[in-house]
Amino acid sequence: MAQQIFQNYPPPLSEQQQVYLSTYVKNWTIQHGLTVRPSAAQVSEEVNPNAVLATNAPVSLFPSPFPRKLFKQAQSLQTVYNELYAAIASNETFLESVMKELIDVDDFLSNLWKIHLDVKAEGYTHEHALGLFRSDFMLDAATDTVKQVEFNTISSSFGGLSSLVTQLHTELASFPAPATSLAYPPHPLFKTSGRPNHPPPNEAVPTLARGLASAHKAYGPAKSSPALPLCVLFLVQPSERNIFDQLALSSRMHTSHNVATFRLPTTSVLEQTTIGTSSPSRPLIYHPPSAPGTAYEVTTVYFRALYAPSEYTSPTFWQARHHLERSAAIKCPSILLHLSGSKKIQQVLTSTEPDHLGSFLPNASAATLDSLRSTFAPQYALDSEGLALATNPDTAAHHVLKPQREGGGNNIYRDNIPPFLASMPEKDYKQYILMELIHPPASAHNTVLRSDGEVVSGDVISELGTFGTCLWKTPRPHDADAPKQGEAPSTPEILHNEEGGYLLRTKASGSDEGGVATGFSSLDSVLLYDDEHLH
Ligand code: ADP
Ligand code: MG
Repeated sequence: MAQQIFQNYPPPLSEQQQVYLSTYVKNWTIQHGLTVRPSAAQVSEEVNPNAVLATNAPVSLFPSPFPRKLFKQAQSLQTVYNELYAAIASNETFLESVMKELIDVDDFLSNLWKIHLDVKAEGYTHEHALGLFRSDFMLDAATDTVKQVEFNTISSSFGGLSSLVTQLHTELASFPAPATSLAYPPHPLFKTSGRPNHPPPNEAVPTLARGLASAHKAYGPAKSSPALPLCVLFLVQPSERNIFDQLALSSRMHTSHNVATFRLPTTSVLEQTTIGTSSPSRPLIYHPPSAPGTAYEVTTVYFRALYAPSEYTSPTFWQARHHLERSAAIKCPSILLHLSGSKKIQQVLTSTEPDHLGSFLPNASAATLDSLRSTFAPQYALDSEGLALATNPDTAAHHVLKPQREGGGNNIYRDNIPPFLASMPEKDYKQYILMELIHPPASAHNTVLRSDGEVVSGDVISELGTFGTCLWKTPRPHDADAPKQGEAPSTPEILHNEEGGYLLRTKASGSDEGGVATGFSSLDSVLLYDDEHLH
C-alpha cells in the first residue's frame, strides 16, 4: 500500500511551474543561508580570489513522504540511543574487548586508543563527556520498519541546514490560498484530516545548542587563576565548505545562551591553545588571533573535524588530538565516545548472545528494548557466518561491506564484495563488518536543485537522521569510587538527555552512497503520512 504513496508523489509540474518553483527555492536559499561555499572545481580561485561566494546547498524541491508512525518511533528511540552510547563510552572494558582486534590492524584506531591510554596513565582531570548524536535510518519497504544505517558519535552534521529546509518546504506548502498551487500543485498528501499538511517543526538547532550549553554550564567556574572568561571551541577543518551549517549553531550559542564561541581550525590547535599551568587540572586556554593579549578558558571542544584518517596529514594532528584530550575541556566527543561510534561496535550490539542492550540499559522496559532491536538490520563480523555470506556472490548481492570509517564513500556493495575480499590477506578481514542491505521504497521520486544550479528529477531514496544530545559523568579509572578490576563497569550519571530535530537526505536511487557534502545527494524534509493517506 505504502508504495502507492510514493508512486503518485510529488504532483507533476509543468515546465513553467518548475521554473517558478526552482527559482523561488534558489533565491530562498541565499536569502536564508541555506548555503555552502562552492568547491574550487565549481568556482575557480581566479574568479573568487577572496572566497566571498556562496551557493545554495543541494535541496529537494518537495518534502519526501515518510510514515508518521515510523518517524515517531525513530524520534522516541533517540534518548534511548543517547543513553546506550553514553553507557558504551563509559565502559572501557567493553570497548577494549571489542576494539582489541582492530587496534592490532588499524593504525587510525590504534593511535586513538593510544591517546586514551596515555591520558589515562597521566590521569583524566574531569569526568564529563558530551555527545551531539545523529542516528541515521532508512525505511525498509519489505518489512514496513525503520532500520538504522549507522549511529554517529562525532561531527554529526546538517542540523543547521536541515532546519532551514524544513522552513523552506513549510513555507512552500503553506502559501496563501489560492496561491498554494503556484508552489505545489494540489496533492492529497498536502492535507491531513482536512488541514494543511507540512513538515513537522525541526528543533535541531535549539536542541544541539542546548547540548553544548549544558556542557558549558557543567564545566563550572574557570579553573585558571586569575580566572579567565569562558568559551566553547568549534574545532573545524581548515577549508570547510559546510560552514553555514556550523554557524547556525554558534550564532544560537551567542544569542540564546550568551556563550562565546570561536572557530579553531585543526591546523592551529597547537598554536592557538595552551594548557594552563596555574592549575593541576590542565585547563585549556584559547588565545584568539583576532585579539592578541586576550585569553579564554575553554569549557567544551566541539569536534566538527578529526574524524577521518585523511585529516591527520602529519604527526602534528595527532599531537593536537592528544593535547585536547588531556585538557580539562569537555570533549564532544571524547576519544572513548568517538570509538564507541565505530561500525564494529554497532555490529556487536546486534548480537543477542550476550544481550548487550539489556546490560547497557538496565532500566529500559522490554518494550523499549524490542523497539530498539527492531531498528537493527542484521550485521556480521567476517568470521564463519559473515564470511560465508560475503564470499558467496548470491548472498553478497544483499549486503554492504563497511570498514571502520566515517564520512561517506568507504563502503563496498553487493557483487563487488567477493572480489574485494579476495584481493586482500585474510588477516585484514577484521577491519570490516557485513550488513544486510535495507530496501527503501523503490518508486519514490523527487526533483533536486543542485549546488551548480541544475534541476534534476528522478527516482530517489531517503535517509532520515534524528538528532539528540547527551551529557554525562563517568567515574574515571583513577578515581577512588571508580570500579576496580573485576568489578562491574561504571554506569554513567546522565545529566542531560534530549531528542530534537531531524535531517532527511535524499539521493538518486542509482547511487549507493549519499554524502551531501560530496555532491550526490540533497537536503530534504519529511511530509508525514498516516493510514488515512493509504486509502
Ligand atoms: P558513513 O560513516 O560513511 O556515513 P554509513 O554506514 O552511513 O557510513 O554508509 C554510507 C551510506 O551507505 C549511507 O548513507 C547509505 O546511503 C548507504 N548504506 C549504508 N548501510 C546501508 C544498508 N545497510 N543498506 C542500504 N544502504 C546503506
Ligand atoms: Mg552515514
